[in-house]
Amino acid sequence: MGSVGLPQFSVFGEYYNTIDGKLSSTQQTRHGINPATGKPNPEVPVSTPQDVDAAVDAAKRAFKTWSKVPWAERQEALNKFADAIEKHGDDFAKMLTQEQGKPLMFAKAEVAAGVQWTKTLSSFNLEEEVTTSDDGTKEIHVRYTPLGVSVGIVPWNYPIHLACGKIAPSLVTGNPIIIKPSPFTPYCDLKLGELAQQFFPPGVVQVLSGDDNLGPWLTAHPGPDKISFTGSSFTGKKVMESASKTLKRVTLELGGKDPTIVCPDVNIAEVAPKIATLAFMNSGQICLAIKRIYVHEDIYDPFLKAMVEHTKTLKVGDGSEEGTFLGPVQNSMQFEKVKTFYAQIEKDGQKVAVGGVNEEKPGYFLTPTLVDRPAEDSKLATEEPFGPIVPVMTWKDEAEVIERANNTKMGLGASVWATDLQRANNIARQLDAGSVWVNAHLELDPRFPFGGHKESGMGFEWSLAGLKAYCNVQTLYLKKTA
Ligand code: NAD
Repeated sequence: MGSVGLPQFSVFGEYYNTIDGKLSSTQQTRHGINPATGKPNPEVPVSTPQDVDAAVDAAKRAFKTWSKVPWAERQEALNKFADAIEKHGDDFAKMLTQEQGKPLMFAKAEVAAGVQWTKTLSSFNLEEEVTTSDDGTKEIHVRYTPLGVSVGIVPWNYPIHLACGKIAPSLVTGNPIIIKPSPFTPYCDLKLGELAQQFFPPGVVQVLSGDDNLGPWLTAHPGPDKISFTGSSFTGKKVMESASKTLKRVTLELGGKDPTIVCPDVNIAEVAPKIATLAFMNSGQICLAIKRIYVHEDIYDPFLKAMVEHTKTLKVGDGSEEGTFLGPVQNSMQFEKVKTFYAQIEKDGQKVAVGGVNEEKPGYFLTPTLVDRPAEDSKLATEEPFGPIVPVMTWKDEAEVIERANNTKMGLGASVWATDLQRANNIARQLDAGSVWVNAHLELDPRFPFGGHKESGMGFEWSLAGLKAYCNVQTLYLKKTA
C-alpha cells in the first residue's frame, strides 16, 4: 500500500484510495471503460484485505472523536464539503460523463443533486426527546447515539448523488463512513474522498476502490456497524446475509419495476412526451425510471403515437456531445443483459412501436424502444431491464390495473396521471410502492423518506427519519432522587 500524501486537489487525472487521511494506491491496479468510446479510463487501486483492515481501523479510531464533535460543527464541515463539491462541479461532471456515460447536462444535474442532498441531509437536528413525569420526580430522555462505522456501497448509475446521500447522514449523526464505489464507476467517488480530506479529520471519510471481492470483504468484516447498500435486489440479499453474521445494521435500496397508470382524461400532447422522457432518462438506468406504462384503452392509440413521436426526437450518442439525451448503457455486462430484452422481441413476436436494436460499436449504444402490448407475463413486462426498453400496455378497469401494477415483487416507485385528481389520488393510495406520484414521476426531495416496499428494499434513507437508521436509540431514565 504505497502512500503518496495529500497533493493539491484538482488533478482529475490521478485516482487514489483515501485511507486514514492519506491518499494511497495499490500494487495491482485496474481501470474502468468510457462506455461511449470503449477506451480505458485511468488506473485505480484494487484494494486488498490489508487496505480494508487499515480503513476499518482508522474509522474506528476516528469514531472516538468524531462522534463527540458537536452536531453544529459536523453540520458546518459538511456544508463546506458541499460547497467544495460545487466549486469543482465542472470537473466532477466531466469525469462523470467519461466514466458513467450520461450526457453532460445530466452529469451537472447529478453534481447539483449531490450538493443539495449533502446540504439538506446535514441540516437536520436529531434532538433528544424529553418527557417529564407528572409528579416531576423523573425525566425520560430518548437519545439518538451514533452506531459506529458505516460502509456505503454505491452502484454505477448515480455514483455522486448516491454517495453524497450516504456520506451526509452518516457523518452528521457522528459515524465515520467508508465508501465503496462500483468497479465500473470509481472515479468521481474517489475524488469525493480526496476532497473530503480537506474538511474532515483522518478516517472520517474514506473511499476504497477495488474489484468484486471488495464489497463482500467489507460486509463480512467484523469492524463496521452499519451497511448502507444501493444496488440490485439480487446483491442486496447477499449483503443482508453477510451482514447478518455480525448483526450489522443494514439499509437496502434496491431495484424497481415502476408502473405508471395513465387515465383517459389526460392531456395527451402534454403527458405523453413527459412519460417517454421519464422512461428513457439516464438511458433507463434509474431504479425509479418508469418501467411499465399502462394507458387507458380509450386513448391508447393517440397516446402511444405521441410517445413514439417524442421518442424519435431523443438523440442517442456520446454524452459529451451537445444535444445528447441518451448516453450509452454504462458497461458491457449491462449492455449484454439489456440486449437479451431486445432479442426477446423477435423470439416472442413482440410489436415494436419505436426503436429496436441499433448498435453503434465501440460504445454501448441502444436506441430507446417502446414495445406495443407485450404479454403481461413476458420478460419485458415482469423483469427490470435497466436499459432503454419499456413495455406499453392497455387497461380498462381501475381495480384490475391496480392489481396488475402491484403484481410484482418490486415496490420502489409508481405513478398515476389524470386530470381528475380525486381519482388519481384514490388510485395512488392503492399502489404498493415507497414513492408514489400523481402527475409526475422521479421527482425526489431529500427532506422526505425514500425506500422500497417488498424486494425493492429494507428500511429507508434521507429525511430526518432516515438519519435515525444511522443511530442507536437509548432511553435514559433520570430519577431526581436516589
Ligand atoms: P449491483 O447490485 O450489481 O452492485 C451495487 C454495488 O454492490 C456495487 O458497488 C458492487 O460492486 C457491489 N457489490 C456487488 N456484489 C457485492 C457483494 N456480494 N457484497 C457487497 N457488495 C457487492 O447493482 P448495479 O448493477 O451497480 O446497479 C443497478 C441496480 O441498482 C438496479 O437494480 C437498480 O434498480 C438498483 N438501484 C437502486 C437504487 C435505489 O435507491 N433503490 C438506486 C440506484 C440503483
